[in-house]
Amino acid sequence: MEDFYSTDIRFLKGIGEKRAALYAKLGVHTFADLLGYYPRSYENWKDCAEIAQAPFNEPCCIKAAVIEEPCANYVRRGMTLYKLRVSDGKSIMKITFFNNKFVLNNLVCGKTYLFYGKVGGSLTAREMTSPQYAGENLPSLIRPVYGATQGLSSKVTEKSVAVLLKKCGDYAPSDPLTEEMLKEYGLCGLGYALKNIHFPESFAALETAKRRLVFEELLFLQLGMFKMRTHARSHTAMRMQKDYSEEFFGTLPFAPTNAQRRAVSEGTKDLFSDVPMARLVQGDVGSGKTVVAAALCCTAVKNGCQAAVMAPTEILAQQHYRFFSSVLSKSGIRCGLISGGVKAAEKKKVKQLLENGEIDVIIGTHALIQSDVSFSRLGLVVTDEQHRFGVLQRNALSKKGEFPHTLVMSATPIPRTLALMIYGDLDVSVIDELPPGRKSVETYAVNGAKRERAYGYIKKFLDSGRQAYIVCPLVEESESGLTPALQYKEKLENGAFADYKIGLLHGKMKPAEKEKVMEAFVKNEIQLLVATTVIEVGVDVPNAAVMMIENAERFGLSQLHQLRGRVGRGSDEAACILVSDAQNKQALSRLKTMTATNDGFKIAQEDLRLRGPGEFFGNRQHGLPKLKIADLSRDYQIFCRAQSAARELLEEDPELTRPCHAEIKRNVDRIIENITLS
Ligand code: ADP
Ligand code: MG
Repeated sequence: MEDFYSTDIRFLKGIGEKRAALYAKLGVHTFADLLGYYPRSYENWKDCAEIAQAPFNEPCCIKAAVIEEPCANYVRRGMTLYKLRVSDGKSIMKITFFNNKFVLNNLVCGKTYLFYGKVGGSLTAREMTSPQYAGENLPSLIRPVYGATQGLSSKVTEKSVAVLLKKCGDYAPSDPLTEEMLKEYGLCGLGYALKNIHFPESFAALETAKRRLVFEELLFLQLGMFKMRTHARSHTAMRMQKDYSEEFFGTLPFAPTNAQRRAVSEGTKDLFSDVPMARLVQGDVGSGKTVVAAALCCTAVKNGCQAAVMAPTEILAQQHYRFFSSVLSKSGIRCGLISGGVKAAEKKKVKQLLENGEIDVIIGTHALIQSDVSFSRLGLVVTDEQHRFGVLQRNALSKKGEFPHTLVMSATPIPRTLALMIYGDLDVSVIDELPPGRKSVETYAVNGAKRERAYGYIKKFLDSGRQAYIVCPLVEESESGLTPALQYKEKLENGAFADYKIGLLHGKMKPAEKEKVMEAFVKNEIQLLVATTVIEVGVDVPNAAVMMIENAERFGLSQLHQLRGRVGRGSDEAACILVSDAQNKQALSRLKTMTATNDGFKIAQEDLRLRGPGEFFGNRQHGLPKLKIADLSRDYQIFCRAQSAARELLEEDPELTRPCHAEIKRNVDRIIENITLS
């Protein structure tokens, strides 16, 4: 029976070599794949509208009889119109088809059909153009719409799936979820789910089917993540003996906060255990996560290991390099930098030193993952601002050692459940305290009319020796009409800020150029930095006191909070001005949240609530396999249930060896394989 589902789709009636090749492009090779090729959306042919009541410009279905034989109107070469009139007994509608001579035979006067499409025309003379049509006794009135590709329409797939489902009748698919699970979580069986996801009996049945399939997908994924974690954890790592935190703290120009101390001691405990550390450090912007990482690197190195610190951007890598070198060198620790901005010869030298064990802490961008970077004894891997890296990138770096300890620093505090989804089963340290003396950043939301006044306000800061940022969303001219950063800077230079030193920083600059600009800003040779979001993550210039953000409505709340975190890093007054001409309620309420609180955890929560986890984390899904049917922003509730189901299941049957879990295990193994191979 397993054989039946792994049959090549070529053996399905209606699919030949040519179509099979097209299906292969969509990742559909077997019967099972085709069944798992879920519709993208559905057409409602069920709730027919009356002609007079049909909504304009929204797809709808109209049941009507043809009252006038279709007639052909030759317009010009290659363009013939076919016009006819239909009636639902109350009103009459005109329908036009282009170059579709089949309607002459297919639509018979006096017969009733279903017409599906958008209604146009006027209130009194409604019409449809090139609608789909079908006989009134269509078998399924909620029709699937499949992702199509050149030469393979949704209709073709609809037919193939229908043929396949009929065949399946003789070979009921074996349900990976046990009877007990179905009952406990209120889910329908697999057979029902498959039938109704493709050809729903009703919208309620569709929901039931969807819920079951989403649950299943998220369950397998969670199990996969949990298993990957336990797999990594079951190996002993470089076990360390002695704690060097105090020595490290002594080299800092400030006293660590209690929260930093706590996070360091939690991490140090991990280093002493023979299970590798897998820890997430969560803390608000500016809470000093870098210090925690550096402390743990110090202990790791002093115990004879090497450490790697991976940052998501060039600028941040360079900044970390400066910080790590300056504090760790006092303990005789040697740091190195590998990133796009480092010259080839220098990079080669650094790689050699690293391999020989003559560099203790290597800092870099994802360039660290490259195959020619190797270590002599990698014991600790730190990834900063982790949500920008995928599971794979993180793992790729860890693979350069033998189950090294891993520390993940998150930029955006997230609820634990979601952290688990994305990071697997990590331990979490929370830094819930900011270094002393920090003033919260006064935040104002204004519209474009107040821009000039805002400039005046910024100048006051510049005149007192402080620095400022202005953030614009884009570099180049685009259709969206947003002022690109480059033009913006020129405008300021020739206008409001003619007497000030202005710099420009954007993502399309070469690393060396970026570094130069950043350095000039750090040295206060640039007073006002016009930048795109490249400065969003982690850049630290304590003298910067004010930030203005243009088109603030374009950013997510967490992103705004990250940006705002670039100012107010010292103990002096700091401000953030959000400029937006957006009128819609949601945008305004988001900006209001920003003016009301400086608490990153609260903001993340709100952001998550407003946008849902999918958007919140961006589209990339962090290297997790692409989800077929589940959508984290929509299916958060189901996700939580699937997660607890996964936990329960592993408690009961950690290796999934019970016969009743065989099908689950097969699916989970496939996911792990996908994650680790891709
Ligand atoms: P984040 O958590 O956002 O990564 P950073 O590690 O970049 O924060 O630290 C922000 C700033 O606070 C840096 O300038 C850092 O030197 C400073 N800092 C960190 N810890 C302390 C502390 N305990 N006391 C004073 N300043 C600190
Ligand atoms: Mg940071």
